[in-house]
Amino acid sequence: MYRTHTCGELRKTDIGKEVSLAGWVQTVRKFGSITFVDLRDRYGITQLLFGDDLSDLLAANPLGREFVIQVKGSVSERSNKNANIPTGDVEIKVGSLSILNKAITPPFTIQDDTDGGDDLRMKFRYLDLRRNEVKKNLELRYAVNRATRDYLHANHFMDIETPFLIKSTPEGARDFVVPSRMNAGQFYALPQSPQTFKQLLMVSGYDRYYQIVKCFRDEDLRADRQPEFTQIDCEMSFVEQEDILNMFEGLIKYIFKEVKDIEYNEKVERMSWEDAMWQYGNDKPDIRFDMKIANLKSAFKKDGELLAKGELINGANFPVFDNAETVVAIAVPGCSEYTRKQVDELTDWVKRPQIGMQGLVNIKCNADGSFKSSVDKFYDGEKLKAIAAFSNAKPGDLILILAGAEERTRKAISELRLELGQRLGFRKKNEFKLLWVLDFPLFEYAEEENRWVARHHPFTAPKPDHIPVMINNNPLIENAAEYLKHPYANIKANAYDMVLNGNEIGGGSIRIFQRDLQEKMFAALGMTKEESLYKFGFLLGAFEYGAPPHGGLAFGFDRLCAILGGSESIRDFIAFPKNNSGRDVMLDAPSNIDDKQLKELSIQLHIQ
Ligand code: ASP
Repeated sequence: MYRTHTCGELRKTDIGKEVSLAGWVQTVRKFGSITFVDLRDRYGITQLLFGDDLSDLLAANPLGREFVIQVKGSVSERSNKNANIPTGDVEIKVGSLSILNKAITPPFTIQDDTDGGDDLRMKFRYLDLRRNEVKKNLELRYAVNRATRDYLHANHFMDIETPFLIKSTPEGARDFVVPSRMNAGQFYALPQSPQTFKQLLMVSGYDRYYQIVKCFRDEDLRADRQPEFTQIDCEMSFVEQEDILNMFEGLIKYIFKEVKDIEYNEKVERMSWEDAMWQYGNDKPDIRFDMKIANLKSAFKKDGELLAKGELINGANFPVFDNAETVVAIAVPGCSEYTRKQVDELTDWVKRPQIGMQGLVNIKCNADGSFKSSVDKFYDGEKLKAIAAFSNAKPGDLILILAGAEERTRKAISELRLELGQRLGFRKKNEFKLLWVLDFPLFEYAEEENRWVARHHPFTAPKPDHIPVMINNNPLIENAAEYLKHPYANIKANAYDMVLNGNEIGGGSIRIFQRDLQEKMFAALGMTKEESLYKFGFLLGAFEYGAPPHGGLAFGFDRLCAILGGSESIRDFIAFPKNNSGRDVMLDAPSNIDDKQLKELSIQLHIQ
């Protein structure tokens, strides 16, 4: 037996016991003829004391960092206790030592604040994984995994595996493809998600399915994406949107409780996609703080009320506002005393190419109720007061206004809001705020192809009262510049996203389950009948054999873990992640394959 206890286990109550421990040498400290060694394993660190009697043995067999050793000895009380570690009251008086394996000096220190850079740690990921920081992340990931399985099992979900070698039907992202040796010239694709399989399982009667499953998407890796990532993928039959929202709100709350000991008792807030876009400038608002966007120019509807606010800013002969498609404002709490320098810095911030605005207008709402603005020339006190009231600004606030083309300006004000939220400490790491975003548009306009694409995916059902709009109108877009006037632009879907602290952590929809509506959907996306049969004939066929109404969703498992762990990066929560170019630097993959393999696959390379 290598060990009787782990390195995290022994306490004062164990004093006097004869034990064996095994693990890695963390540090060696010599004091004259005695030597202290910190021995580490997954569970913790225990101090070993090598007395005089072993000094010759140690001299003949010097221990180095990361050596794997086994010791036998007795547990004794430490004279110099360490309150920072659970085993800090005791040490092992070593009687015998076996070196199980030597180690060469690791390329970086195996410590919380390691001296290893990112690339080096990824190349030697198996060493990086020994570090506490990374281990904590993997432990959290496992806790989320277990809580998920417990909750879904208790709710009668079945974990059913679905294949990884499937047919290529690129619709959203690019597929990863795998050549077939036995079917020369043909390829499988790796699934972007098990979407169609889980729907087929509903047709088969497995009314509650889940899988914690790898998905593969050959996308350009924008910040913090991985070509292979993990989803908690779920589907249910005989459900409406409300059933799904309740079930999975329950799942996330259960995870919060089990993993973070957080009681999230309040109902998860809900917001329409339209409100999210107007009030926060994006479809995954961080609602930990307010600072809603006020749309100073266009009229917009809220609770059925039409607010025509153009008059707030029009007619002042201020060309920047007069000529802009959109003028939007946020009121930054308590910042009316920003100096010229601070405001200039914010102006530079919005002018950076990533944000791309021309300038920033500000109105300082002084504590005494007066105003001072960068547009005093055009707007008198009364007008500024009206703008402030409409922007929900209080005395002491700083109103920031951006003007320009709608999409870019909306995006920019959203970024500015998040940036200020961050700077002002409103986005607290240990505060968790969930939100359902609902009523997404069914379609999106793809400019390059002048056609409609599915905003979620082609299996998403329109809202029931929007189905006639889809059926009775031709999808053709005759005037690309006016695509927003096409009836399809207003069709909403029974689709929902779950947002946590400004991150989309999950999304799904109620599905189409009738063949004719699914065919109509494919046609709306510009697919010919032949094409839709070639790609999705199996699903259309299945819908003719008794398909139940169904819907589901998938959570991004890696992202959920990262947020719960208070990290920005999903890589920290994946045991063996890829880098930003999609490479595994430890394996050095992807790599060339030899000619024999290519020949077997009937593949000739023409690399340009
Ligand atoms: N398969 C979808 C996705 O990967 C999720 C869903 O609709 O259930 O985004």
